[in-house]
Amino acid sequence: MKVCKFGGSSLADAGQVAKVCEIVAADPDRRIVVVSAPGKRHAADSKVTDMLIACAQDRISGGSAAGQIAAVVQRYAEIQEELGLSASLVNAIRADLEARGASADQDPEVLMDLFKAAGEANCAKLVAAALQARGVNAEYVDPGEAGMLLEGEHGQAVPLPETYGNLKKLADRDAVSVFPGFFGKTREGRVITFPRGGSDITGAILAAAVNADLYENFTDVDSVLAVDPRIVPNSRPVANLTYAEMRELSYAGFSVFHDEAIQPAIEAGVPICIKNTNAPLNPGTMIVPARETETDEVVGIASDAGFCTVFIKKYLMNREVGFLRRLFEIFEAEGVSIEHMPSGIDNISVIVRADRFDDATEHRVMHKLKTELGVDEIAVERDLALIMIVGEGMRFHVGIAAKATQALAEAGANIEMMNQGASEISMMFGVKDRDRERAIQSLAKAFF
Ligand code: ASP
Repeated sequence: MKVCKFGGSSLADAGQVAKVCEIVAADPDRRIVVVSAPGKRHAADSKVTDMLIACAQDRISGGSAAGQIAAVVQRYAEIQEELGLSASLVNAIRADLEARGASADQDPEVLMDLFKAAGEANCAKLVAAALQARGVNAEYVDPGEAGMLLEGEHGQAVPLPETYGNLKKLADRDAVSVFPGFFGKTREGRVITFPRGGSDITGAILAAAVNADLYENFTDVDSVLAVDPRIVPNSRPVANLTYAEMRELSYAGFSVFHDEAIQPAIEAGVPICIKNTNAPLNPGTMIVPARETETDEVVGIASDAGFCTVFIKKYLMNREVGFLRRLFEIFEAEGVSIEHMPSGIDNISVIVRADRFDDATEHRVMHKLKTELGVDEIAVERDLALIMIVGEGMRFHVGIAAKATQALAEAGANIEMMNQGASEISMMFGVKDRDRERAIQSLAKAFF
């Protein structure tokens, strides 16, 4: 059994919905279909989810949201008409949106989620109808009725443990289940959404719940690329990644999707395949628990800007019991997460994300470091970028660091920091933001 999830660009217009139906019909193992709301048809277009947020905002500020609702209905109407589906579907969508607008609930967060969830809910109804019209025995599944129970803050929901047992029953249905992504219900029966992009989470939860053989994630690219194509054009496709490689790469800003979103599938050990709706026969990228054969030393290079280093020096720091604990507490008190911490004998660098470390925070931390820890020297450097080279094969190859540092030297990039993860499947380099692109191009040339 396969769970397949289609993102917004795969459902943006009638032509795309037709492709989705074709893909589902082509493989009888595709038993559960998770859909996003229709996305952008071209660069200047709006995503239906953003249009629904505008509906909610108007309604929250006392308006009727009538104009915004009509614009959303129009998006669905175009798909319905072009696919020759019944007009009653669009009437039902209009009625559904108006009912959400007329909700007696006045809590802005509740109203916001009620509207946001409408994008996926109505898209799933349309896709179920389009599949039926194509002769596929498909039915819309209401997440609340199926038991997608969530808790937490609005827009940040997480599944309750019983959700998995509830959703397992979908595996027994005869019809193909068309399940809207992005939302579920609280125990109290309120609609609640995941973070943006959360249909990936719905798909991963379902894949885990039914213990799928494969979780197919359909998007608009052929595969994951080894390097960001904006930095290295014609970058090579990655045929397969392990869960651990995916985690390391997505930490450092790797594209396609965020590993946290697919965590439920990873925990259940379900392999994930990233595929292109526009070229479904291409193999895509497989993300698997472990690699059977040893392949390349490095599978991908990722990078992320916006880090900042707090360099701390104190003579005999290594002998001072509790120094690190007190150092951590200073950052903890400011609510700043420590990302990395390369260290020497009498010195340590604390690397944090710059957006969590503004000037005022920096000032307070510096003051505490001087007065509470009595450090000899402190310096803060901003504009740091981290570059990660990742590959399970690194463990078995000698000379990776030499090759990488040579490439960085050739690019004229000064290495501010260097760290090999304890797991030995990644190596991280800190360089100045301005050297980042050149450094990556040089690394890509060396390894690929
Ligand atoms: N439609 C939602 C969003 O735009 C969820 C998703 O597409 O995954 O964020």
